[in-house]
Amino acid sequence: MITMKNVYKKYKNGVVAVNGIDIEIDRGEFVYVVGPSGAGKSTFIKMMYREDIPTSGDIIVNGINFATLRRKRIPYLRRKIGVVFQDFKLLSKLTVYENVAYALEVIEDSPVQIRSKVNDVLALVGLTQKARMFPNELSGGEQQRVSIARSIVNAPEIVIADEPTGNLDPDTAWEIMQIFEQINAHGTTIIMATHNKDIVNKIRHRVIAIDSGIVTRDEYGGNYSL
Ligand code: ADP
Ligand code: ADP
Repeated sequence: MITMKNVYKKYKNGVVAVNGIDIEIDRGEFVYVVGPSGAGKSTFIKMMYREDIPTSGDIIVNGINFATLRRKRIPYLRRKIGVVFQDFKLLSKLTVYENVAYALEVIEDSPVQIRSKVNDVLALVGLTQKARMFPNELSGGEQQRVSIARSIVNAPEIVIADEPTGNLDPDTAWEIMQIFEQINAHGTTIIMATHNKDIVNKIRHRVIAIDSGIVTRDEYGGNYSL
């Protein structure tokens, strides 16, 4: 599902963020990416959805080799990958419903399809009652639910989350994790960068530890330890 071969990323300022990573992630896996700040976790996962481009090495996602990916095919790729951020990145002038529907409107789904898909995912994240509210009327946990709904409304095969519980209190973080568990149980591959030691140690999944741009540990059911 996701293959990286000898991937290396040096930013323009000379920083080597990723220094030779080989990784294989299969369909349906749930993978935590852990490591100290500045280790290269964000760069590693941003390269999976073509937000960052490697300086060298190969990345193949869903059978698409990024090296030969045409610019105009990038929106198509992005639809196959849902992305969730620590700071939610919702559109403040749009309602909950509209934030989720927006991802579908840009691909020109029919209005009936849009309504049905948006209502399904809002129900899944428990926000049916808040569909008409605006992001600033919601708690952090609720905003993250909206952003998760938006990430799965196109039924992607992969969801990538960069510290999705980083801005949430512990109880809310657990609730958000239950939603990711449900999405994963549905067959969706999940890649999640996190600093949440309690969660990684309790809800066991594959752990890829990164430090100084290399994989220092890759263990199924591994713990958090850095
Ligand atoms: P992490 O997510 O583990 O904190 P990052 O991938 O964000 O690590 O960063 C890895 C290294 O790359 C850090 O030294 C960071 O300062 C640097 N870096 C990240 N993004 C950029 C960028 N856009 N330009 C230059 N350096 C960057
Ligand atoms: P099925 O055809 O197996 O019943 P559906 O696609 O109709 O599956 O979805 C069944 C339920 O699962 C619906 O409530 C839907 O919102 C939810 N669902 C759909 N896609 C996902 C997903 N990627 N992760 C978790 N739940 C999902």
